[in-house]
Amino acid sequence: MTQRLYNSMSERVEEFVPLAPGKAGMYTCGPTVHDRAQIGNLRTFLAEDLLRRQLEHQGLVVTQVMNITDVDDKIIKKASEAGRSLEEYTAPFIAAFFRDLELLAVEPAASYPRATKFIPQMLTLVSRLVERGSAYVRDGSVYFRISSFPAYGKLSHLDTAGLRSGASGRVDEDEYEAKEQVRDFALWKAGRKGDLAAWPSPYGWGRPGWHLECSAMSMDQLGETFDIHCGGVDNKFPHHENEIAQSEAATGVQFVRYWVHAEHLLVGGVKMAKSLGNFVTLETLVERGHDPMAVRFLLLTGAHYRHKLQFQEELLQAAEQDVSRLAAFWRRCLELRSGDGVHETGELGVAAERSARRFEEAMEDDLSLPDAVAATFELVREGNRLMDAGNVGPEGAEAALSALRSADTRLAVMERRALRADALSTEERALLEQREQARRERDFALSDRLRDQLLELGIQLEDTKTGTRWRRA
Ligand code: AMP
Ligand code: ZN
Repeated sequence: MTQRLYNSMSERVEEFVPLAPGKAGMYTCGPTVHDRAQIGNLRTFLAEDLLRRQLEHQGLVVTQVMNITDVDDKIIKKASEAGRSLEEYTAPFIAAFFRDLELLAVEPAASYPRATKFIPQMLTLVSRLVERGSAYVRDGSVYFRISSFPAYGKLSHLDTAGLRSGASGRVDEDEYEAKEQVRDFALWKAGRKGDLAAWPSPYGWGRPGWHLECSAMSMDQLGETFDIHCGGVDNKFPHHENEIAQSEAATGVQFVRYWVHAEHLLVGGVKMAKSLGNFVTLETLVERGHDPMAVRFLLLTGAHYRHKLQFQEELLQAAEQDVSRLAAFWRRCLELRSGDGVHETGELGVAAERSARRFEEAMEDDLSLPDAVAATFELVREGNRLMDAGNVGPEGAEAALSALRSADTRLAVMERRALRADALSTEERALLEQREQARRERDFALSDRLRDQLLELGIQLEDTKTGTRWRRA
């Protein structure tokens, strides 16, 4: 049982060896709560949930910390336009974020530190950097002196000389022009007493820079050196590069041992982003009738977490069918587990073991969930075939169920759906599948008969452009 993980620092898949045996500390760059999260953000948080679940499956006790960035230039601008305090302005977005995570079955982190509550820790870090000559004060702002940290750039593997902004597009504004070198970045930004976001400091009133927030909060919660730091790929530079520089310059020890970055969700080839207007929120998808379990399934299994994923709403229809299929098989196993008098051939037990082994091999190889799920579907196919032939008894059903349960500790969609009061029974699902087949073959008479049969069972159908939806009448 060795877990292999791609480390952006070494640019290789490495064996994950935690700092303290049996435990793992994990920091996740959380949302900037100036607005609701879009599903691209959620894809990254889901990838991190997958990692967390996988480490737990491997027997590790994981301490996951996810910060909430509740002060930054965008938040300040929007809050002041709305005539609100930072806290008033961000509260509904924080609440909405937690609702999204819950709907998507993301396991709660151990803590969610908020930037505005960690100003003293941030200022301590700044003063250590000033004392060591790694930072300097100009007009009430404090800047990190990149020339004092020769290893700068080791994570992003970029020639960073002269670079000012990163892929995230967060460029320091011109008001912070007093830097020794253009690439130096602000740790602390000068402000005035009474500003919407201003705290007293040895340098005068001001507010923290974004990068500083994450260094201070992660080291406060997890120690000066911890196991895993995650984020989306756009966080690599400058955010994580700057975190490394300011943390290691202050402590003199390695900051993070494994850097894990999730790739973006795209729309029509470009990154989904609030600023581009090409985004969709989970709330909108739910309003349009999509099940959050289908969203979770698509965002997690649509592509490996290190590959880009193209979002199309139609893909949710297929994801919905996949989740239903898995859940229906789960229910079929439950039904057969308490059955009797069936000729048990033992074949399903063998198939279940093979599927579970393949699932784990894929997951241990840098969380290759799309491959792992393929092994689960193989079991569903084989299982349904054997069940149709009457070759499965309680033992086989139990073996299959145990493989499903194990997979679902990572997937977390099957049991939820299978146990839902309105989930389709095996018979209902079979009728629905027959009707879909009839429609594909343009046998509308049969399709209408099946529709009536389903209606008698209390299932109402609606045929849409992207497929058939059902609901309990
Ligand atoms: P933000 O709230 O902007 O700080 O972003 C929160 C997280 O979402 C960060 O880890 C980003 O890297 C990530 N993120 C932003 N846009 C996308 C996207 N289109 N696909 C995947 N992750 C994203
Ligand atoms: Zn961060």
